[in-house]
Amino acid sequence: MSIRTEAADRTRTRAAISREEAVLAHNYHPLPVVVARAEGAWVTDVDGHRYLDLLAGYSALNFGHGHPRLLAAAREQLAKVTLTSRAFHNDRLGPFAEKLAALAGMDLVLPMNTGAEAVETGVKVARRWAYEVKGVPADRATIVVAAGNFHGRTTTIVSFSTDPQARAGFGPFTPGFTVVPYDDLPALEAAVDEHTAAVLIEPVQGEAGVVVPADGYLAGVRRICTERRALFVADEIQSGLGRTGTTFACEGAGVRPDVYLLGKALGGGIVPLSAVLADRAVLGLLQPGEHGSTFGGNPLAAAVGEAVVDLLGTGEYQARARRLGAVLREGLDAMIGDGVTAVRSAGAWAGIDIDPALASGRHVCAALAGRGVLVKDTHGSTIRMAPPLVATDDDLRWALDQLRDVLATCRATVTGPGRAR
Ligand SMILES: *Cc1c(COP(=O)(O)O)cnc(C)c1O
Repeated sequence: MSIRTEAADRTRTRAAISREEAVLAHNYHPLPVVVARAEGAWVTDVDGHRYLDLLAGYSALNFGHGHPRLLAAAREQLAKVTLTSRAFHNDRLGPFAEKLAALAGMDLVLPMNTGAEAVETGVKVARRWAYEVKGVPADRATIVVAAGNFHGRTTTIVSFSTDPQARAGFGPFTPGFTVVPYDDLPALEAAVDEHTAAVLIEPVQGEAGVVVPADGYLAGVRRICTERRALFVADEIQSGLGRTGTTFACEGAGVRPDVYLLGKALGGGIVPLSAVLADRAVLGLLQPGEHGSTFGGNPLAAAVGEAVVDLLGTGEYQARARRLGAVLREGLDAMIGDGVTAVRSAGAWAGIDIDPALASGRHVCAALAGRGVLVKDTHGSTIRMAPPLVATDDDLRWALDQLRDVLATCRATVTGPGRAR
C-alpha cells in the first residue's frame, strides 16, 4: 500500500483529465484520479497508483470490482444472447425474477435499468393503485416524500427534491408531491390523507449524508401507511442489497414495505439493473403497453442480477457489512472531537461530518485520495464511506488511519506549527 506523494508521477493522470475536460459536459466535478483497473476493493490509476475504493460506486459495487462469480455469469451470458427486448421472452429473466421476488418476499418484479427509472416506475404504479384501488379522483393522487431526499435526476424526480442545485433552471415541475421533514412521524401523519397514493422514502438517506432515522421511524411509516391506506414505497436503491447489514434496511427495522425500489448493486457493478418489487395487488395493475423499457430485463442484466441474488442468498455479505460496520464505527467514533463533529452509520455505511472550521469535505477527500483512499463528499462538510463488502478489516483500519492522519495535518495547518494537538 504505497502512499502517494506530491512527487508521485501523475503524467498520465493529467493527460487523461485534460482530454476528458475538453469534451465532457461538466455535470460532475470528479476527484483527480483516473481509474484504469480494479479488483475487489482496490482500484489502480493510469499512473499505477493503488487506491482503496470506499465509495464503491455509491454502493453499486457492494460485491467489489470484478467479483469472480459475477464476471463469470456475465461472460457466460455475453457468449449466448445479451438483448432480446421484452417483445420476446428470454430464458434468463424468469429465473432472475423468481429468485429476486423470493429474496424480497414479494409476488412480482418489474425490471428496469437505472435507479431513477425504478423510482419513476414506483411513482406510476402508486398513482395507478390510488385510482384503481383506493378510489382517489382522477389526477388528484399525491405522493408524500421526505425533505433531504435523493431519488434520482429526472424532471419528475427533481420536482420533489429539496436540493436547490438539483432543481434550479429545470422547471416547470411535476405536481402531486408533498414534502415533509424526514424522521418526523407527526408531520407524516398530518400529510397523509385520502388523496395519498404513497409515502416514498429512503430507509436511510444516503446522499443526504447517511442520515439514519430514529428507531421506530420505519415502523411508524408502516403504521401510518396501513391506517391511511397508502402504499409504503421504500427506495432501497442505495440502502438495500447488504449495505446496512441486512438484505434490506427495512428488514433490519423489522418492517415490510408495500413496494421495494432496487438498483445500484443489483447490477453487480457490471450493468445498470433496477427493479420494482411489490405484491400482485399493486404491480398486477399494470397491463401490456402501459409501461416498459427497451433494455429492462435484458438477458445479460438478468444473468448478472441472478448471480447477485445468489450471493445475497448466502448471507455472507450481510454478515461482512455488519463486521465492517463495527470496525468503521469504532474507528470513526474515536475521531469525534479531533476534526470530526458527528458520525452516523448503518452497517458498512457511514456519514462523517468534518468540522467546517478545519476543512471542507472536498479537501479531506482530495487529501485522502493523495494517500490512496477514495471517498466522496456531500453537502460541503460531510464525507461518506461505503466500503465494498469484500474489503478486509485491515483494509478499512488502514483507511481509517489515513483519515486520522489527514485530520491531524488539517489541525496542524489550522492551528499553526507547534500548536497542533
Ligand atoms: C442512486 C440513487 C437513485 C438513482 O439511481 P440512478 O441509477 O443514478 O438513476 C435513486 N435513489 C437512491 C436512494 C439512490 O441512492
